[in-house]
Amino acid sequence: MKTITRQKPQEEVMGYLAKCHKVYLIGCGTCATLCHTGGKSEVLEMKEKLKAAGKEVSGWMIIPTACDELTKYALQEEAQRIKAADCVLAMTCAIGVQMISLHLKDAKPVYPALNTLFIGMEESPGHFTEVCLQCGSCVLGRTAAVCPLVRCSKSLLNGPCGGSSEGKCEVSPDIPCAWQLIYERLKEMGRLEELEEIEPTKDWSVSVSGGPRKIDIEAECTSLS
Ligand code: SF4
Ligand code: SF4
Repeated sequence: MKTITRQKPQEEVMGYLAKCHKVYLIGCGTCATLCHTGGKSEVLEMKEKLKAAGKEVSGWMIIPTACDELTKYALQEEAQRIKAADCVLAMTCAIGVQMISLHLKDAKPVYPALNTLFIGMEESPGHFTEVCLQCGSCVLGRTAAVCPLVRCSKSLLNGPCGGSSEGKCEVSPDIPCAWQLIYERLKEMGRLEELEEIEPTKDWSVSVSGGPRKIDIEAECTSLS
């Protein structure tokens, strides 16, 4: 499972950097490297673009996994070069941007060079598909492990819309109809009768619309024991 990112348009990045002359660049050795958005070659490419635009790059590094807590140690090692910069440009997912900002010693702007798109599964080399939007109340148990929220174009929870044709979604012939997939997998498992059960109205308060979600693992374990 990977966090899928795409590079922001360079004009947007340059807009962030308008007031900064010296920039420190950070890439990520995990998801952003895999997506070719913030690995070593993209960071070096960005370095050249910034230099061509008259900026100075005080340093750069690729943090092994920017969203990880260990990021703070990588930042400590590069503290002098980061201090010399007016800002940090993070070629990482949004979690990496926040992790870097959290652990920076100086109050220094951290700008994102990437857009974070979704959590994806690599279906074939270099091809990622969104598989979960982290709704907080998983229904995969009754949908044969196909997520209807991200795989169905209308996020239908109680069966198909009726518009599919030859197994493809009416929105695009490139999208397999999620409910066709669910039907076929349930049929294969001899569980078709489960399609007649009605999924109650979804509780979206446990999803992103309920505010920032938090969890205390220790407290959860204690309550379960
Ligand atoms: S139902 Fe919710 S938690 Fe389960 S896969 Fe879909 S979005 Fe993710
Ligand atoms: S055709 Fe299938 S995937 Fe597309 S919106 Fe309808 S039920 Fe969902």
